[in-house]
Amino acid sequence: MPEPFRLSQRVLDIRPSGIRKFFELGLSMTDPIDLSIGQAHFDVSDEVKAAAITAINEGRNRYTVTQGIPPLREALLARYAKRFGDVSDYDVMVTSGVSGGLMLSFMALLNPGDEILVPDPYFVMYKHLATMVGAKAVTYDIYPEFRVDAAKIRSKITERTRLIVVNSPSNPTGVALTEAEARALAKLADETGVPLISDEIYEDFIFEQRHYSPREFTQNCIVLSGASKSLGMPGWRIGWMLAPKSLSERMYTVQQFSFVCAPAPLQWAVLKGLDQDFSAHRQEYQAKRDMVYEGVREHYRTVKPEGAFYMFPYLPQGADSARFMEACIKQQLLVVPGSACSDKGTNFRLCFAATDEKLKRGVDILNTVAKSL
Ligand code: PMP
Repeated sequence: MPEPFRLSQRVLDIRPSGIRKFFELGLSMTDPIDLSIGQAHFDVSDEVKAAAITAINEGRNRYTVTQGIPPLREALLARYAKRFGDVSDYDVMVTSGVSGGLMLSFMALLNPGDEILVPDPYFVMYKHLATMVGAKAVTYDIYPEFRVDAAKIRSKITERTRLIVVNSPSNPTGVALTEAEARALAKLADETGVPLISDEIYEDFIFEQRHYSPREFTQNCIVLSGASKSLGMPGWRIGWMLAPKSLSERMYTVQQFSFVCAPAPLQWAVLKGLDQDFSAHRQEYQAKRDMVYEGVREHYRTVKPEGAFYMFPYLPQGADSARFMEACIKQQLLVVPGSACSDKGTNFRLCFAATDEKLKRGVDILNTVAKSL
């Protein structure tokens, strides 16, 4: 890099996402079976697309208030009131995706030297965002069954711990909190005074049980969610966050001086999509989960996902992760090495948000690879 561009320590301390690398590789291949990137395989509904076009044509193209358009915030707050009871001291703010909400909450709550607890395996952004604000992500291990154990988290709390991040249903494991686990996390937050950040972006993608949020059982919890996955619009950058009013007001200021607001016409379109019935997609994804799980379980030890659209199988006994990845790529199959979302390299992530045809081909390749290693 030419002088005088000297990189900040902040940037030197973070690594590019190991997942994006595979996304880019997929773009350069002719007909890959790309089970690497985590986005729903369906498009935005026609009704919501039309609402976005109408909003643009009606001139809703100016800045919105930083916290988001009032009707969208009101609709979301009403939804949370139904689920969590009295939320009168809480506020919903519209963010630039859940990523934006994570950034704002970390900036508002963490000082250099602070620690946050994140699950291992984790959604890769938690660690890097913590680094960017000078904090440190400490992991709590959820192997081998990927269940969240509040007692294990408690043992990792130090005087520096400021936040506990939970993600259910989980990226990359697909495991979802049970009611008892959500209650135990809530109790942990109440007893230790360390608040939770609950990333619920996959809340609609839940198969047998209902979605449980720790926020049902404690107020010491910020809830993050968004439209990227459920409404099939990861490129639209709309998310939201339920947080105490006094904290939200601080985060408005951070958003005002950074992202300003989430995309204006798209906030109006999301409002239109909020009440869409998700049950057909849910059934479709459950069927995909079943197909892939049944397809690979003979050759791979796998925890059956309860939600989201990921599976995190263990590599075949004794297999080397790099050799496994190479063998998959040779056959045009893209999955993500576990080391991109974990401190361990014993697993790989596959995303089953793909057509049944691609999933079938992917399963066949995985079984061929397992036999060849
Ligand atoms: N949280 C989790 C667990 C995710 O998997 C993702 C997207 N991969 C995000 C947050 C970010 O989503 P977005 O910024 O698109 O809302």
